[in-house]
Amino acid sequence: MRRLLASALLPYARLRNTFSPGLRILMYHRVARLTAYDQLTVSPERFDQQMQQLAAHKVVSLEEGLQALRAGPLREPLFAVTFDDGYLDNLTEALPILERHRIPATIFVTTQFCDQALSHPRYGDPGAQRLHLDWDEVRRLARTPGITIGSHTRTHPYLPTISDAMAQQEIALSRTEIAGHLHAPVSFFCYPSGDLGPRELALVRQSGYAAAVSVAPGVNRQDADLYQLKRTEITDRDDEAQFRLKLAGAFDPIHHLLHARRTRRFAQKHLKPSASFEATTL
Ligand SMILES: [Zn+2]
Repeated sequence: MRRLLASALLPYARLRNTFSPGLRILMYHRVARLTAYDQLTVSPERFDQQMQQLAAHKVVSLEEGLQALRAGPLREPLFAVTFDDGYLDNLTEALPILERHRIPATIFVTTQFCDQALSHPRYGDPGAQRLHLDWDEVRRLARTPGITIGSHTRTHPYLPTISDAMAQQEIALSRTEIAGHLHAPVSFFCYPSGDLGPRELALVRQSGYAAAVSVAPGVNRQDADLYQLKRTEITDRDDEAQFRLKLAGAFDPIHHLLHARRTRRFAQKHLKPSASFEATTL
C-alpha cells in the first residue's frame, strides 16, 4: 500500500529533485544475517545491492554535504550514509561493501557500548558474541579513508527525559571521550532515537559539534537546521524498486505522517509522569 502510494508520488518527487535538489542522509544501524526480520538490520546481500544502486548517484561524506549546503542551493541531489550505535558488523560486514562501491559513511558510536560496559537493549544480552565495536576497531575505522566517527552519547538515553547535568555529560563528555580515543576532533552528533528538545539543541551547539542528525524524515535543503538534519531510514525490505523510491523522496510524505504520529505519542507519554517507559528502539 505504502509502495503504491509512493509510486504515485514519484513524478512529483522527481520534479522537486530536479528544481530543488537536497542532501538525503540515509540511516542504517546493522548489516548482518539475522534469522528473523529486524527493522534495524539489513542483510549484507541487500546492503551490497543498495550501495551498488546508490553509487550511481553523487554520494558525499557528511562534511562535504554540509559544505555544499552552506555554499548555496545544490545543483544536484547529494546522498550521505550513516550508521547508528556502533555495531561490530559495521566493520566486518558493511565496510568491505562500502569500500567496494567507494561510498563514504559516518558511524555514530555510544562510548559505553565501545567500552563494552553496556550494549543496545534491543538485542538483549549478546553473550559471548560481541555486538559493538571496541575502541581499537573504532580507531581502525577512523583511519579508513571515507569513514567518519560521530557521537551517539555515552549511554544511549532518551535525552529529553534526563537531568540537565546528565544531558550535558551525554552530549559534551561523549564528544571529549571519543576525541580522546581517536586523537581527532568529533564534528557530528546523533540523537538517540531521534528524540530532542530545545535543551538538547542548545547543548549540542554549545559542545562544539558542527551538525547533528535526527530521525525526522525528508531531504535537507539550504534552509535546513544543521542541528536537526533529516534522515531516511533504510530497511532490509528496500529492494531495488523501493530503494529507488526512497532515494527519490517518494516516501517522504508518508514518512512525515508516520513521524508526526510517533512524535505526538512520545509527547503524550511524557506528559503523564506515571506512564511506563518503553525500551529504546533506535
Ligand atoms: Zn541509537
